Amino acid sequence: MSKTLFISDLHLSAERSDIAQCFFNFMEHEAPGCDALYILGDLFEVWIGDDHNTPFSQQVAQAIAKVANSTDVFFIHGNRDFAIRQGFAKRCNMKLLPEQFVIDLYGRKTLISHGDELCTKDIEYMKFRKKARGWWWPKLMLAIPLRLRIKMAHKGRKISKKNQLTLSEEIMDVTQSEVESAMLHFDVKLFIHGHTHRPNIHNFTLNYQAVQRIVLGDWYSQGSILIANADSLSLETRRF
Ligand code: MN
Repeated sequence: MSKTLFISDLHLSAERSDIAQCFFNFMEHEAPGCDALYILGDLFEVWIGDDHNTPFSQQVAQAIAKVANSTDVFFIHGNRDFAIRQGFAKRCNMKLLPEQFVIDLYGRKTLISHGDELCTKDIEYMKFRKKARGWWWPKLMLAIPLRLRIKMAHKGRKISKKNQLTLSEEIMDVTQSEVESAMLHFDVKLFIHGHTHRPNIHNFTLNYQAVQRIVLGDWYSQGSILIANADSLSLETRRF
């Protein structure tokens, strides 16, 4: 039966070969031949520019490009990999989508996004997001010589490792009113996103109508997939 797959928050890095192996298995055995694969952000733990071409990023690109031979692959930026540009997307043969996008999911008008744009209670992050998604800041950052960007990323990783225990707790949940206004704006009854690492299917009422918000799971300790077909939507996990 035909199906569409959604994944997000893999946080792939060369250091976590267990996550990478789970992803490569998924890309080899599950993704090929499905109607579409949507990667809703944070595919990578960090992305410092398409010119940072490593054996690992090449391996990921090859895995995606192989699936893209038989399946449409779409990507929405996450807060970790917002710097992915056409260069890497072309290597993956995947299509970059805008941060909020409406798709037709077997007749259901569906809004998809990474989800960080909904976490408006995190004032500091929203400020950074505005800058990072603007035009001048990424241009400035990507103009820094690659060698220096690699150094900066190492430094950043050291700091985030020190804070790792609190880091996963730190991701705030979405602001419900933000969810509702986006769903009303795009006139959808289904919203699929990731980012919060709180996999769930939320059923609620909006404008006197039953609507759904589906949150994808992360890949820190297992693979997490949303499988959609004409009759059902199911959140599934894959063991490492
Ligand atoms: Mn995220």
